[in-house]
Amino acid sequence: MNVSAEVQDFLLKNVIERFLRYIQVWTTSDSNSSTHPSSLNQLDLGKILVGELKELDLENIVHDEFGYVYADLPSSKGLENAPSIGLIAHLDTSDAVSGKDVKPIIHKNYKGVSIKLPNVDDLEITLKDAPELEEYIGLDIITSSGDTLLGADDKAGIAEIMTACKIWQKYSEFKHGPITLCFTPDEEIGKGTEKINKNRLPKVCYTLDGGKMGELEYECFDAWMATLKFIGLSVHPGHAKNKMINAIHIASRFFSNIPESESPEHTEEREGFFHLIDLKGDEEGATARILIRDHDSEKNERRINYIKSLKDTFEVRYPGLKIEMDLLHQYKNMLSYLEKDTHVIEIAKKAIEESGLQVETPAIRGGTDGARLSEMGIPTPNLFGGGSLFHSRKEFIPTFALLKATEVILNLAQLWSLEKKK
Ligand SMILES: [Zn+2]
Repeated sequence: MNVSAEVQDFLLKNVIERFLRYIQVWTTSDSNSSTHPSSLNQLDLGKILVGELKELDLENIVHDEFGYVYADLPSSKGLENAPSIGLIAHLDTSDAVSGKDVKPIIHKNYKGVSIKLPNVDDLEITLKDAPELEEYIGLDIITSSGDTLLGADDKAGIAEIMTACKIWQKYSEFKHGPITLCFTPDEEIGKGTEKINKNRLPKVCYTLDGGKMGELEYECFDAWMATLKFIGLSVHPGHAKNKMINAIHIASRFFSNIPESESPEHTEEREGFFHLIDLKGDEEGATARILIRDHDSEKNERRINYIKSLKDTFEVRYPGLKIEMDLLHQYKNMLSYLEKDTHVIEIAKKAIEESGLQVETPAIRGGTDGARLSEMGIPTPNLFGGGSLFHSRKEFIPTFALLKATEVILNLAQLWSLEKKK
């Protein structure tokens, strides 16, 4: 839909103000903690949001013991029967880089050169770091001061959702059906859906946790982990001929048979890989864990069969050696769930196009909360939040991306309000 200059102006100011405020709340999650949330400071941002959601006329606002924030926005008048949709973003930031005392800088009117981050000598964001900068010439770009990450991942998503609520409250011409918001803790440590209350979520959700403008993600890895146990036999090395079965040495030979070209450091985009993450042991026994990743499950099947055939070969090559193998299917490519109902994707594509952007659909080289929700029966593609270089002191976001992502949310809600409930 058309957003007038007046609304755009109000929207942009509102979303920038929120974004700058939210990123200054320290919400780093803690991968070493076993509590929910993993760090108590995530509750601080949750509390602020609860206060603001009340002012924005949301209902059934809950901030639960695990740190999740839920809220419902009733539909525009007359659209009570439109299907409900959920909008999800995460409260925490990655613990790879400090997220404490973020001091944002707005670099006005970007000129196409490297952006210097003042608090660290010689730290700058170059076009090589982020080729998309070329498309941002003339825009205002927000960065940290260089000593912390920025937190666009995922406070851009939160600011965009909250600003959309402000627009719906202030301008009744933006129509929408019933909407549920959910802000989750601990996404960055892989626990974003662990304590989620599925009953609070609609049948269709979208996360706002993607990267640069225009991106829509609905494919992730099909992920397996193989654990291998090599059982050998220790004998005094002076009398070991034809007796010793050196498990750790054999294991190292085993993994030297994994093709080097199929490793994380030699693959990109839709290329899959093996990733040996752990190998330890001695003559008597060795254990190893290897991750197997691909967007295409059949290609993973080939990799699994390759490991099985290596196992058989090694047991023949070293009489007396035993290899035990355990396979764990960690998560599936979310496309396998979304394929049944591509409508959820089509509407998101249309919402992005209506905001004047070109849709890009990169495949995620990892998993997402959306993948886990899709597996739980709630199809959840991932919309862009607008930032780049996540989990880094070089993280940045153009203010224009905050505007566009919010517009996409408004379009998405309007498009869904025209749908029939299933
Ligand atoms: Zn994120």
